[in-house]
Amino acid sequence: MAKIFCIANQKGGVGKTTTSVNLAASLAKQKQRVLLIDLDPQGNATMGSGIDKTQCENTLYEVLVDGVALAEARLKSAAAGYDVLPANRELAGAEIELVNRAQRERQLGAAIAIVRAEYDFILIDCPPALSLLTLNGLCCANGVIIPMQCEYFALEGLSDLIDTIKRVHANLNRELQIIGLLRVMFDSRITLQQQVSDQLKQHFEGKVFNTIIPRNVRLAEAPSHGMPGIVFDPSSRGAKAYMQFGAEMIKRIRAK
Ligand code: ATP
Ligand code: MG
Repeated sequence: MAKIFCIANQKGGVGKTTTSVNLAASLAKQKQRVLLIDLDPQGNATMGSGIDKTQCENTLYEVLVDGVALAEARLKSAAAGYDVLPANRELAGAEIELVNRAQRERQLGAAIAIVRAEYDFILIDCPPALSLLTLNGLCCANGVIIPMQCEYFALEGLSDLIDTIKRVHANLNRELQIIGLLRVMFDSRITLQQQVSDQLKQHFEGKVFNTIIPRNVRLAEAPSHGMPGIVFDPSSRGAKAYMQFGAEMIKRIRAK
């Protein structure tokens, strides 16, 4: 039965999607069955997996709003070896459509339940907001992976996210826990980044992943080629780091 993880941080541009697609590809390369759910109307995880978000017959929107089965909407990322539940700008409308429904925060969980046994990992790429969409992700997940840059303001945003996770844990999903903080776009030559990294390890003992993802231009170039960095340039430093992160995740799950 798949473990479900949200990749979340309400701050924009911190590496959620890069982490989602590369972790999905890394796990797939390590023989795991993976479904990546694009929970962001920007559709970046869809495009970054080599799927044209404007050409999908069904997307997450149809699953959430029209009751289309997830199995009818998912697609294979041929390049990267995992399945994708795509999204595009239509998904923004789902927030409004869901508001008046009973169990509005459990719609994604209900859709996932039917295919859960087919996978080892289900990853959810969250939008940069603590919205109803993100809440749907948090309500059905076993845990949250929080990518963050080691910058001064990164720590401020973190407390809102952690409060939200605590509230969801208390009221809606007793399973939910923070799996870990992932340091991304890291440049060890920058003293401030080292300092923030050290602070993180002190404050969140045991919750900071060992793997550090370096700033690496190959990871940034890969989406324009419609593939995760791991597939685009497996020998790059960024790809190697995400391979290692995948291995760390597998190990953590087995240790449970
Ligand atoms: P949003 O909040 O808009 O969804 P995000 O948190 O998903 O953004 P990404 O889209 O993954 O963030 O990354 C933001 C930008 O940083 C992108 O241009 C991406 O290619 C680049 N980027 C991400 N990780 C790295 C890295 N390790 N090295 C270099 N560039 C990176
Ligand atoms: Mg994103």
